[in-house]
Amino acid sequence: MEVNIGKSVLSLVIGDITEESTDAIVNAANERLAGGAGVDGAIHRAGGPAIMAECRKIGGCPTGQAVITTGGNLKAKHVIHTVGPIYRGGARNEAALLRSAHVESLKLASAKGLKSVAFPAISTGVYGYPLEEAARIALTAAIDYLHEHSDIELIRFVLFDGRAYEVFSTELKGLL
Ligand code: ADP
Repeated sequence: MEVNIGKSVLSLVIGDITEESTDAIVNAANERLAGGAGVDGAIHRAGGPAIMAECRKIGGCPTGQAVITTGGNLKAKHVIHTVGPIYRGGARNEAALLRSAHVESLKLASAKGLKSVAFPAISTGVYGYPLEEAARIALTAAIDYLHEHSDIELIRFVLFDGRAYEVFSTELKGLL
């Protein structure tokens, strides 16, 4: 599914984000930038050791913030590592932190002059964020950003399975 937001495109696809050829892909990292399970492990495996070498130099990233490294062997030239919140019931600022993770990633992309960015469904795996709410927050952050900044030409959400794709599609239709 693809929609226009101003002069930019917001797209949803099912796929493996490590195969994306956007200027940057976003990693759902942890605060230590230590690698791990899920999409984080997949990105480091596919991108090779240059990504972890830069992560070690950077040292860490607070929840809701973002840092950028090389894409190593990936098609994407850059990986933006952001840390989504661990979901603990919803009363611990999770929504604001999840929005911030998306906005800070996009700000970093803009600052580097990048034009296209692919996101996974941040926090919806091991970090336990309910998918519907996470999708709404992620999509709202992306739409708001595209309304306010015309430099980013494409934001793509790469969903790993059909259920995540359906949830994101339903939420996006509800937001338009
Ligand atoms: P978090 O710790 O932020 O919850 P996870 O990696 O556990 O991060 O999960 C985030 C989302 O990424 C989940 O929806 C998971 O299905 C998805 N995912 C896992 N591997 C990939 C991949 N290779 N490409 C895209 N999405 C992926």
